Amino acid sequence: MGLIHLKDVPHLAPEQRWECPKCDLKQVTHEARVHVRMHPCRGLGGLTSPMVTAGTQCKVVVQHRDDYVGDEIVQRDENGRPVTGIAHVRDDGQDFTVFVPSARASMRDLDIDPAKYRTAVRNTVIKRRGRR
Ligand SMILES: [Zn+2]
Repeated sequence: MGLIHLKDVPHLAPEQRWECPKCDLKQVTHEARVHVRMHPCRGLGGLTSPMVTAGTQCKVVVQHRDDYVGDEIVQRDENGRPVTGIAHVRDDGQDFTVFVPSARASMRDLDIDPAKYRTAVRNTVIKRRGRR
């Protein structure tokens, strides 16, 4: 007999009410594990932002990037300005969502044989499937 998870029993899973301080979105989740609800926020020009527990008083601060972006792939606000993250500042602390930039590289530049790379990826997938 397997374990029964709280998430599989709807009336036992705790109800978590979420809201966004920058738009009018409200949601309810039933998840026993610790989690954060993310959404593309209309109030922040579409940036992916975490929701807060309903009733949380906080200020939302978008942190813009001021240094050179170069070839990195970065999140941008609706005006095209690079964003490094979003802070939700409460009286007792703050949470900061970081938008980590991505680098670009080609297999040729990294001197990687595409055939060997595909084999390595396929073997990794097989190993992960085998762990279940
Ligand atoms: Zn929002």
